Amino acid sequence: MKSFKIAILSGDGIGPEVMAEARRVLGVVQGKFGLRLDFTEAHVGGIAIDLCGHALPEETLRVCRESDAILFGSVGGPKWETLPPNQQPERAALLPLRKHFALFANLRPAVCLPALTHASPVKESLIAGGFDVLCVRELTGGLYFGQPKGQHEEDGEPVAVDTMIYRRSEIERIAHVAFKAAQARGKKVTSIDKANVLENGVLWRRTVTEIAKQYADVTLNHLYVDNAAMQLIKNPRGFDVVLAENLFGDILSDEMAMIAGSLGMLPSASLGVKETAAGRFGLFEPSGGTAPDIAGKGIANPIAQILSASMMLRYSFGENAAADAIDAAVRRVIDDGLRTGDIWSEGTRRVGTAEMGAAIAAAI
Ligand code: NAD
Repeated sequence: MKSFKIAILSGDGIGPEVMAEARRVLGVVQGKFGLRLDFTEAHVGGIAIDLCGHALPEETLRVCRESDAILFGSVGGPKWETLPPNQQPERAALLPLRKHFALFANLRPAVCLPALTHASPVKESLIAGGFDVLCVRELTGGLYFGQPKGQHEEDGEPVAVDTMIYRRSEIERIAHVAFKAAQARGKKVTSIDKANVLENGVLWRRTVTEIAKQYADVTLNHLYVDNAAMQLIKNPRGFDVVLAENLFGDILSDEMAMIAGSLGMLPSASLGVKETAAGRFGLFEPSGGTAPDIAGKGIANPIAQILSASMMLRYSFGENAAADAIDAAVRRVIDDGLRTGDIWSEGTRRVGTAEMGAAIAAAI
């Protein structure tokens, strides 16, 4: 029997509520697919500040280090917003986790199920049948981290400097992640750059084109980022995997989340340099936050957290059949007309967090 260790970091707000449903679903999956999943819970975020004095206690980091993957809820809330910025939950927990585990690849699927196209701000005629796009964003390089960076004065005038820098090896490793993901999906990668203006874009395009030769079953095309921003809205169904550097990926993945329509449905993965037997160590979390406005009411949508667990099975454990089963169960329950408040519409049945989780678990 294959066994995996999972660090459970539920965090704040709706985090613990939706995490309970992800665990319920994983409990069913391990029985059906002959897996042994060992869960270790650890504090993170605001609750960790309250209980341990720090958003990412050393003990939590130890649990993560000893695990094969981290299943993360979300952190933060009004209670901790008055702390100095570098002590606030998101900054003091997520950024150090990203850094510690060198999480360089951010994967954000934007899936709009056929039954939920009305929730998208895009005209239904453009997205009939739904869409399924995966954004693969480079997370540790580019403009956000390049040096020099800072502000100074020149001729009595304030000047700001950010440096965009990519090494070929950084582009290669994120390109491999994108092509491997495409192999298991629609076999198409659209690489984003600004090669008509930026030297970084020229190197990006040349490197991705070379890596593509190792993936003969995947089609590669290139788009300038400005055109990509338009095409994603005009025809999201034309995309499979979108590969982008840090800044462009940050912007495009948010655009894609918006056109998918429902934040409570969108998972994400951040994969690290550490390789596992069948994938990479990673941190898996919903795209949304702690939703303080609905926390504690039992009405949050647990699907983003459940699909984050599915991504963990797929990308860290290589358990594609188990991941497919979860994804299919989510589709079935949506097709059956169950909806949490955020995706409810006339003619469907409104359910709470636990009922949605139980229905998905039962559909596996
Ligand atoms: P949010 O994503 O928490 O909420 C935005 C809106 O989406 C709210 O109306 C909320 O009710 C709704 N929503 C989000 N997830 C939902 C779900 N699963 N089911 C139903 N509705 C859902 O964003 P925000 O309000 O900007 O931030 C709230 C807190 O979360 C802040 O403290 C912020 O710092 C934190 N945050 C944390 C993360 C993270 O941990 N990665 C990410 C984003 C925001």
